[in-house]
Amino acid sequence: MSEFEFTVPVVIMGGGACGAVAALAAHDAGAEVLLIERDERPMGTTGMSMGVVCAAGTKSQAAHGVTDSGEIFLADILAKTRGQTDPEIARAIAFGSGPAMDWLIDTHGLPFQLDTGFRAAYGNSTLRIHGWEGHNGQDLIELLHQRVADAGIPILSEARVTDIFATDDRITGIEITRPGGTVERVGCGALIIASGGFAANREMLARHIPDMADARNNGHEGSEGDGIRLAASLGAATADMGAYQGYAMLTDPQGISVPPGVIIDGGIIVNRLGNRFTDEMADIAGMVHPVHAQPGGHCWVIYDDTIAARQAYVPDLQMLNELNAPRLAATLPDLATRIGVDATALEASLTEARAAFASGQPDPLGRLWQGDARPTAPYRALKVVGAIYHTQGGLQIDGDARVQRTDGGSFPNLFAGGGAARSVSGPAHWGYLPAMGLCTAFTLGRIAGMNAAQAAR
Ligand SMILES: Cc1cc2nc3c(=O)[nH]c(=O)nc-3n(C[C@H](O)[C@H](O)[C@H](O)COP(=O)(O)OP(=O)(O)OC[C@H]3O[C@@H](n4cnc5c(N)ncnc54)[C@H](O)[C@@H]3O)c2cc1C
Repeated sequence: MSEFEFTVPVVIMGGGACGAVAALAAHDAGAEVLLIERDERPMGTTGMSMGVVCAAGTKSQAAHGVTDSGEIFLADILAKTRGQTDPEIARAIAFGSGPAMDWLIDTHGLPFQLDTGFRAAYGNSTLRIHGWEGHNGQDLIELLHQRVADAGIPILSEARVTDIFATDDRITGIEITRPGGTVERVGCGALIIASGGFAANREMLARHIPDMADARNNGHEGSEGDGIRLAASLGAATADMGAYQGYAMLTDPQGISVPPGVIIDGGIIVNRLGNRFTDEMADIAGMVHPVHAQPGGHCWVIYDDTIAARQAYVPDLQMLNELNAPRLAATLPDLATRIGVDATALEASLTEARAAFASGQPDPLGRLWQGDARPTAPYRALKVVGAIYHTQGGLQIDGDARVQRTDGGSFPNLFAGGGAARSVSGPAHWGYLPAMGLCTAFTLGRIAGMNAAQAAR
């Protein structure tokens, strides 16, 4: 009798964006696929996300007259990470992101378009963020799984992968554990690890990202690093385990993210004394640290009606508006009273920003205002705290998304992508480019799916 109850050519661990995209790619390549998801309904970090994805050289960019390419994206990744990233993975993502996006749109009917309201910032040198207007990550994951169902790909839900079996370097199958404790074994021709990162695993955070170990986790609770740990126990290499995206603008108490566009379009962040304290445009992921360091641990995002109108297409802002979350005020002193900060300090913060805008020089915190509008009356404010959103280090892969061993070899039939794999965000927080999380899920998911189908033959 076989040690496995049944065997499937390509097994995928995790049903977030990476797993769903990998399933579609492996299926398109002619493989029989089984998707295994620990939750009752696949959602993952993907389902909590804003659902925007960076991709270079897409048809949608071309239709908008935007010049972009794998070369330009690669240069942006290397510049943002100060060269401290894996060049082979960076190349695979930079050159694979556009084809992955076009394939999802053309072949699988995903309604992505270039998001022209998400201006180039934080290291993306051009308009490169793609979205699905009026929709967020929850709609994205539901649509991806609709496509998975349309393709007839089976999903085993409420099935947590608890072990991976190998003979020498070759993966032979997995063990799954059901909520009641029942254990089953499934054989595979190839395995794709798409189980996300480890932001929900306090022990792993304490070991690899100690300065975020006690931070609020706003990511998915399934991000426990299962796939990374199981593969590492078989001798898989890991890298950049200190990399992550923190986010400084999680609204309190609503728990909804303020879209980055509110800052990119001219918003500022002040502490509860009314003072600005950081260049809000310097580091989208690392701004969590100065925010955490402020008295009381919370801050205020200050913006205005013009910025609100420009960002009104973003679902997260719509939800905040529906909840009456923004504090509104006709004048700055009124706003200071409404949010309980010092009016003189708040006025000084905006005066400083306006002076920098007029001079064309960076303000004392280093922000260069260029074409951004500074908030003007009437004003809006949202109370925010910092949190960790997702990790960016993980299994060392090559450009084919194949998992590498600590001894320098590789596993011929083991692949990884998305939050489970080493990304291209450098070793810490400062290398994260906006919308890279889903970019690696889409791009590496597709590469892993295609190569797993081949390896399983
Ligand atoms: C609030 C928020 C907003 C974000 N917005 C964006 C954005 O707009 N753009 C962007 O690029 N990035 C964004 N990100 C990051 C992005 O969501 C992630 O990088 C991306 O979703 C990772 O995809 P994934 O498929 O690798 O992981 P996930 O989507 O987390 O999927 C992993 C899946 O694996 C399952 N799983 C885990 N362990 C097991 C196991 N042992 N067995 C079986 N299944 C398992 C999980 O339940 C989960 O369903 C955001 C993150 C957060 C928290």
